[in-house]
Amino acid sequence: MTRMSTIFSKIISKDVPADIVYEDDIVLAFLDIHPIQPGHTLVIPKAPSENGIACDPDTLGHIMKIAQQIAKAQTSVLGCDGVNFFMNNGAAAGQEVFHTHLHVIPRFTDDNTFEKPLRGEYESGEATSLTASLAASLES
Ligand code: 5GP
Repeated sequence: MTRMSTIFSKIISKDVPADIVYEDDIVLAFLDIHPIQPGHTLVIPKAPSENGIACDPDTLGHIMKIAQQIAKAQTSVLGCDGVNFFMNNGAAAGQEVFHTHLHVIPRFTDDNTFEKPLRGEYESGEATSLTASLAASLES
């Protein structure tokens, strides 16, 4: 497997399942399999690029536009107090999957997420239900 063919390529082609919150011609947004907080979403471009430094700037702009909408949906559905947008660009910056992706993470006052990351697993049906709520909020 080359660096440009990652697990995210398989999620885009639907060869690997994911809890998809939003999709258009340019991006796909789905729940992170190991959420830092429930609702933790990844926004990725469909066109492969290794990271945000290599990504086409217009595509990067669209990723951010959709991330803003997802943050609003997370706030509405989860009642979170804040949202982190972050992107790891390069192994030295903590990047593990070499396909551009923006993390959109709901935050709660005093959740201490980055001091003590949750990195949990969803219980049966939880991710499906959360995905449906976020997707519905995005459509409204
Ligand atoms: P990075 O460290 O590269 O910024 O983040 C990669 C993220 O991808 C991690 O938060 C990890 O949990 C997530 N991830 C890795 N493999 C999969 C997968 O197969 N499905 C989903 N939904 N998320 C994944």
